[in-house]
Amino acid sequence: MSNAIYDFRSDTVTAPSAGMRAAMAAAEVGDDVYGDDPTVNRLQARMAEMLGKEAALFVPSGTMSNLLALMSHCGRGDAFIAGQNAHCYADERGNAAVLGSIQPQPITHESDGTLRLDRVEAAIHPDDLHSAPTRLLALENTLGGKVLPLEYMRAAGELARKHGLGFHLDGARAFNACVKLGVDIAEFTAPFDTVSICLSKGLGAPVGSVLVGPKALIDKANRNRKMLGGGMRQAGILAAAGLYALDHNVQRLAEDHGLAKKLAEGLAQFGELTVTVPDTNIIFVGMDAQVEGRFTEYLKARGVRINGGYGQQRWVTHLDVDDGAVDAALAHVAGFFRGETGAASAH
Ligand SMILES: *Cc1c(COP(=O)(O)O)cnc(C)c1O
Repeated sequence: MSNAIYDFRSDTVTAPSAGMRAAMAAAEVGDDVYGDDPTVNRLQARMAEMLGKEAALFVPSGTMSNLLALMSHCGRGDAFIAGQNAHCYADERGNAAVLGSIQPQPITHESDGTLRLDRVEAAIHPDDLHSAPTRLLALENTLGGKVLPLEYMRAAGELARKHGLGFHLDGARAFNACVKLGVDIAEFTAPFDTVSICLSKGLGAPVGSVLVGPKALIDKANRNRKMLGGGMRQAGILAAAGLYALDHNVQRLAEDHGLAKKLAEGLAQFGELTVTVPDTNIIFVGMDAQVEGRFTEYLKARGVRINGGYGQQRWVTHLDVDDGAVDAALAHVAGFFRGETGAASAH
């Protein structure tokens, strides 16, 4: 009996590769709070250049990066618009409200993940006597692994500009979207003022995100990073992993997308399951809620880890799962449904 673990919970579970660890060990470092860390400076300069923006800031997490963006665009008592399922609204402990005193205005997503622009426009508060004035529109791409089209982002950007709003992209997995669309990251992020990119998701770094944007906003974000306790010292050890990831782990995201497709096709063979067709590396699988509870436990007991609950599972492919892991997982899925239908005892 194999003790192998096949971890499909998230692309955050990857461990740094030997090459990445070697790059980290060899990193030249300095005190980054003084601006003295050459490796951090290299990562920031490289990200700014790649995205065609003025400046960049290396931060401990995507959560801090989004919060710094919100706090750079908005002051206390201002409002921002984001999707109901956007990470910066739904999954960051309400930090905009708690720490930024910024009021979120969530908008329901369409089935393709977009926010209807007429609804966005109707939700923009003027700076009048009564309202919290809206200062920012934030989009997320990919959203739950779904790629929002370039033309949509451009149209949303025009709307933001028309109303004098800042425009932020939570691009935690923006490179997945770019690899899927076959477009350059600078073209993808061009409509936005600020962009947050995670190095610790599909790119495989152990820690870190980068916030990219105009110099004035990034300077403000740097001050707020210090306030939030995100000023790091010899952070070049971590930035080196990010640089390594940019060199080695961007184009290979296509492999994750291919594996997700194979996994989705395999899962779709089972009539009990409703499987989304993945754009990138994330699959959602729906089923009867009681079956799901047993199914998720069954897989866990066999080393196949996924996020499940309330009749839905999320499977994510990444650097540390391969073809063999997908085959092994699908074999366990088949084993579960043989047992469920009693077919196993028939022969
Ligand atoms: C993971 C994620 C974040 C937050 O990143 P952390 O490093 O986990 O704080 C933000 N936005 C999106 C879309 C994410 O997937």
